[in-house]
This record gives sequence, structure tokens and C-alpha cells, in this order.
Amino acid sequence: MPRTLADRTADSPDFVVVGAGPAGLGAALHGVRNGAAVTLVDQSPIVGGLCVTRRSGALRYDLGGHIPFVGDAARASWLSDLLGEDLIWVPRPVASFRDGRIRPGRYLDQRASGTPLGLVPRTLPDPGPEESARTVLDAAFGPDLVDAEMRRYLEKIDGVPLVRIPGSRPLRLMLDQAAPDGFWFPRLGIGQLMDAMSRAFVADGGRLLTGTALTAVAVPGGAVAGVTVRHTDRDERIATRRLIVSAPPGAVARRLVPALPPSALPAVRMRAVAIVYLEVARPDVTDQAWVQVDDTRVPAARIFDARNWSADLCPGDRTVVGLECYCMPTADDPVWSADDRTLAARCVAALTDPLGWITAPQHARLIEVVRLPAGYPLPDLDQTDAVNAAPNLLAQLAGLQMARGSAVIDAIRAGEHCAATALSAAR
Ligand SMILES: Cc1cc2nc3c(=O)[nH]c(=O)nc-3n(C[C@H](O)[C@H](O)[C@H](O)COP(=O)(O)OP(=O)(O)OC[C@H]3O[C@@H](n4cnc5c(N)ncnc54)[C@H](O)[C@@H]3O)c2cc1C
Repeated sequence: MPRTLADRTADSPDFVVVGAGPAGLGAALHGVRNGAAVTLVDQSPIVGGLCVTRRSGALRYDLGGHIPFVGDAARASWLSDLLGEDLIWVPRPVASFRDGRIRPGRYLDQRASGTPLGLVPRTLPDPGPEESARTVLDAAFGPDLVDAEMRRYLEKIDGVPLVRIPGSRPLRLMLDQAAPDGFWFPRLGIGQLMDAMSRAFVADGGRLLTGTALTAVAVPGGAVAGVTVRHTDRDERIATRRLIVSAPPGAVARRLVPALPPSALPAVRMRAVAIVYLEVARPDVTDQAWVQVDDTRVPAARIFDARNWSADLCPGDRTVVGLECYCMPTADDPVWSADDRTLAARCVAALTDPLGWITAPQHARLIEVVRLPAGYPLPDLDQTDAVNAAPNLLAQLAGLQMARGSAVIDAIRAGEHCAATALSAAR
């Protein structure tokens, strides 16, 4: 007899979701709202994955500037249902620091003159897997514009020449991650959205296990039969035939039982980010929320001023400036190898000159440096096979789906799609 939604128990849920970042929360919430019994596990003690809001006294700031790129009215209304009046509109478009001054618009969206490009088509043909960002962008905009407006920034973020960056990456940034007029945002930071999703999940009967790591996925005969998770004090086996994973694919593939041969999972080089948080004892450091920077004198490629996302993040006369310094997690990388104080001093110097946001270094105080050694797989055509190895292997397993997204809303949508698929299989 096939199981039905009515047969479910906590020991044997309709599906298990691993990872309570936006993708996992999106999957889990969609599941319970449609009547499924869902168990959601995350190794971290708090939900949100990369989308968490940190605190220093009364100051709040996100782990990286996290703009939810809301593409349609239905998603805006979904956010409004979850957040109510705490969903605010931030009327500040992404800006870029170009030729020594800040201009509206992103590098990808504007002409050399600074006027909006306005000619990015809403759809572009999918590039082939071998096609580089250089080829794709040159074909769309011509090499001169690409060199003037796009190349330096993309290379600064990703750390590889444009000819090696996959062509799909800038297209995704242009089409899916644009906020030309401003953006919707939770008043208390992106973590507030994750908390709201998690509360709604639990309120609808979901089982949330934080501080609980996936340690094994049983796949006898190539089909999911259950997972083992480790709480602080004990292991638990959860029987399930449907599993949605939003944890990194390589980490999941290494936990399969029976195990894969190590040669099946080549090492993947990761791009890191060190985020330097500075408290500035002034409310009006800049009128920008989020600035992209291609200038090599500035260690960061993206800088955000938390107060300009929401004044409630930084009450009083202070703000937090976050500088996202993308780098390689290696001893020879000048950003990664610098100790926190040295890196912070470089960031403070850059805020003074060339950015001109503060007039003297003593106006900024280091709060902390958060280092993510494995921010995302290095987008390098040279390692396409290595990056795809684990996802390709996992895709062959019956009952297992990967919820993956390269941005918050994209990840939520991917999770919901997986949940819808799992639900239709369960019915
Ligand atoms: C600095 C920075 C800035 C960014 N800015 C933006 C932005 O402006 N806009 C935007 O839309 N996106 C932005 N992003 C991207 C966004 O954060 C990600 O796309 C999104 O978080 C992906 O969600 P996810 O759920 O797939 O993964 P994650 O958020 O990484 O969540 C994965 C979860 O899996 C858990 N996990 C891992 N292994 C295990 C295990 N073995 N057992 C149990 N749990 C496990 C982790 O603890 C984590 O909670 C940014 C990212 C960074 C790093």
C-alpha cells in the first residue's frame, strides 16, 4: 500500500529537509502549509543559513548585505503575509563606485556615461556549459562596454579572469538579481524573514531540529530509505523515502551509505569572503545602502551601510558599515592572510580615501571580521566537472532532491519547488 499523507508520524515524516537556510525553510514551510509532515534539521543552533542577522549591543547587521530580489507581486505578497508591517520598502537602488565617485546603478546595468543601460533583455539564450562570461557579455554588449563597465567588478568578486567565469553567472546576476529602484526588506534584517518562516513552519506542525547535523543518508539500491542525524547527545535515525537537501552537495554526497569511492568526489576550490564590520559614530556616512566597488584600492567589492537598509537596525546616531572582501581562502591571498586588525585598518583607510565616507580613521571602530572560507564554489570553467560531480551523483538517487539557489528568493523558490514535487510523490 502506498503511504498517504494521513499515515505520517514524527518518526517517519512525509519528507525530511536538511538545512534551514532560505531553501530548506522554503521547502519545509511549503510542505506543512500543504498538509505534509516535515522534519527540518540544521546543524547550526539557529535557522537562516547565510541569511542571519548579527548583533553588537543595540546594533544589528546582516551576514553580508542581503537584498531579497523579489521578482513578482505574488512573492511580495507572500513576504507581506509573513512579515506584516515589518516588511519595508527601501528606496535605494544598488550603486557602484566608479572613476572615483558613486553613481546609481550596478556595473552590469549602466553605460560608461553613467546613464542606465536599460537594454538588458529580460530573456537571453542560455549559454552552453563551455561558454564564458567574456563571450556571452561581448555578444550582448560589445567588448568595449564590457571592459569599461563589467569586467573589473566581476573579476574582483570572483577572482578569475572573465574568460574563465561561466557565461551563466553574469546573466543570472543581470536578470534575477536586479533592484533598479530599491528593494523590499525586513525591518530588523534578513534574519527576521528566516525567523518568521521558521515560526510559521513550527506553528503549522513542522518538526524543527536545530543543532542537529546530518551524518548519514541511507541509499540502499540507489533510493533514499532514511537519514541519521546527530543531536548533541545522541544519534537519531529517521525513516523517510523523500529527502530535500540544501546543505552543500559535496557534504551530502560524502555522507551516503553505502559510501561513494573518494575518487567520485574531486576537491572543489571555493571562493571565500571576509566581511569587516565597522561601527561609525555618525548616522549619515553615505546615503547609499549597497555599493559595488571595482577599485583595487578598496579591499571590498561590496559595501553596505546597515542604517540605510533600515534605521531600526542602527538606532541612535551610529551605523554599521560592512565591507565584503572576496578572496581565496589561501595563505598567499593578501586579504585572507591579513589578520583582522590589519584588514580592518585597510578597510578604514579605504573609507577615508578613495571613498571619502569618513574624514578620519578614528571615526570607525572594528566590531568584528566574519570569515566564510567556503562562500561559494569558485566560478571557474576549469572546475566545472568538479563542481558538478556531487550534484550529478545525488541527482541519480531516487527520493533525493537538491534545493539550490544562488540568492535568497531564488533559494526559497527552489525549496518550494522541491516540496511540491515531494508532495505529489507522496499523494
Ligand atoms: C556575503 C554574502 C552576501 C550575499 N548577498 C546576497 C544578496 O544580496 N541577495 C541575495 O539574494 N543573496 C545573497 N547571498 C546569497 C544567499 O545568502 C544564498 O543564496 C542563500 O543563503 C542560499 O540559501 P540556502 O538555503 O541554499 O543555503 P544556506 O543559506 O547556505 O543554508 C544551508 C544550511 O545548511 C546547513 N547545513 C550544512 N551542512 C549541514 C549538515 N551536515 N547537517 C545539517 N545542516 C547542514 C547550514 O548550517 C545552513 O543553515 C549572499 C551570500 C553571501 C555569502
